[in-house]
Amino acid sequence: MTWPREGAAGGPAAGPATAVPVAGGAAVPGWSVGLDVGGTKTLGVLVAPDGASGPGLRLPTPRGPDAVAATAAEAVRRLTGDAGLVPADLAGVGIGLPGIVDHAAGRVEHAVNLGITGGVPLAADVSAALGGVPVVLENDLNVAALGAAHLLPGPGTDLAFLALGTGLAAGLVLDGRLRRGAGGAAGEIGHLVHVPGGRPCPCGQRGCLEQYASGGALAAAWPGPGDRPAPVALFEAAAAGDPSALAVRAGFADAVAAAVRLLLLTTDVAHVVIGGGVSELGDPLLAVVRAELDRSARDSAFLAAMQMAGRVSLAPRGVPVGAVGAALAGRKES
Ligand SMILES: [Zn+2]
Repeated sequence: MTWPREGAAGGPAAGPATAVPVAGGAAVPGWSVGLDVGGTKTLGVLVAPDGASGPGLRLPTPRGPDAVAATAAEAVRRLTGDAGLVPADLAGVGIGLPGIVDHAAGRVEHAVNLGITGGVPLAADVSAALGGVPVVLENDLNVAALGAAHLLPGPGTDLAFLALGTGLAAGLVLDGRLRRGAGGAAGEIGHLVHVPGGRPCPCGQRGCLEQYASGGALAAAWPGPGDRPAPVALFEAAAAGDPSALAVRAGFADAVAAAVRLLLLTTDVAHVVIGGGVSELGDPLLAVVRAELDRSARDSAFLAAMQMAGRVSLAPRGVPVGAVGAALAGRKES
């Protein structure tokens, strides 16, 4: 998938365009910046009023609330400055974080990978550092789902974003609206028990789905040679016919297919978009997941009728999906 209007945003001549009137008296949103703050890197992008994004920015993520806030503010200053704008030109800033986020209060309750605990008013802190620009916080899965919905061709506003990273979780955009959940835990399907009495999970249960269908699970099951990521080494060995690699890959595909079925049977979303680090495997990953979905539908007219394999796709590569979604959240499109 290619970016619809790559590079359309930015450039000194672009200028601010907040709330430009269009035909019919409606207003289009203004410029916004989205930040996807991960455990090691912070990805940022400036999104134009028409939804096109400029070049991305990558900064190392420091630890601790003050340093995270300072890095976020610095990223916003750089992204706006590179486009000839200033932070005050922005309609808003959105920040996605891996942790428990109180969206309404703009507070990070817990983000252990960022060294944040105990309820930090990060939205207010970043806003203050930027002279009062509105700042919105979201869970990182939520911004990834928003970004994926924005990037899909066509209506594309009904999807689950299934992230296969260190763990396993999903973000949901249902009928065009982000589903956060009553307690903010919508899509935490990684802790559904997949194998009763199976591998222990840090959540306290045994046999959780994410112990079988995640990058962390693959790294544990296939330590590999160490010179390239575990998923790559595993899929190479399986493609070469290594019987133990084939067995590990089959168990992984079975668990990912279970996650897809769970999402489709619960929400009947139009699309399940697979993202996260493991999705960089590309088509070989999609092929084994689709094959497993087809296999499970072979004996079930019910599952076959849902055409699950055809609804699964991969997140676009080379696009900071989470940062784009954060920018949309920042201009209140969620
Ligand atoms: Zn668990």
